Amino acid sequence: MARYTGPSCKLCRREGVKLFLKGDRCLSDKCALAKRATPPGQHGAARKKVEEYGRQLREKQKAKRYYGVAEKQFKNYYTIADRKEGQAGENLLVLLERRLDNVVYRMGMAASRKEARQLVRHNHFTVNGKKANIPSILIKAGDVVAVKSTDSEKLKALIAELETKTAPKWLDVDKTNATAKVVAIPTREDVDFPFEEQLIIELYSK
Ligand code: SF4
Repeated sequence: MARYTGPSCKLCRREGVKLFLKGDRCLSDKCALAKRATPPGQHGAARKKVEEYGRQLREKQKAKRYYGVAEKQFKNYYTIADRKEGQAGENLLVLLERRLDNVVYRMGMAASRKEARQLVRHNHFTVNGKKANIPSILIKAGDVVAVKSTDSEKLKALIAELETKTAPKWLDVDKTNATAKVVAIPTREDVDFPFEEQLIIELYSK
């Protein structure tokens, strides 16, 4: 699947908000958005007023980039969210939050979702004791995400860092054994980013 491989900070500057794509750097004074808050490009600073469609498009791009999901896959999430009971916007964010790479990031085993996705792809995690190397797997309540093997130095270091991390309340993290039990499906309130999800739904409903 085609995936954006360009500079991450450019995406934040384009959206005008921190998307936290580079781990610790995002919290430091090296953050590109903190240094230069204008959109990228020669005429970035001179961009004009954004119309309604532009706002909807930007909100969709923001969510897509925040979770590191490709366009087609994002549209598929919308289709599933729209068919489910309840508000489509909330359903969409909850689906994105339930992705395995997001769970690995939320449990504190990676500094960014990008790193979490790579760890999952490289077969470092199991779900309920079974091999799980697909970042888009959707976790359910009661699932247990665990580190498969602690042989590598990198994983040992990541596990040691767990002590400094705080997991959301929907994950019960055992920091010694590097496992996370999904105690409940996350809700809209658990998505700690100020998305205006209704704009995304309006965009796709046209
Ligand atoms: Fe975005 Fe992080 Fe780059 Fe800052 S350092 S612009 S938050 S990716």
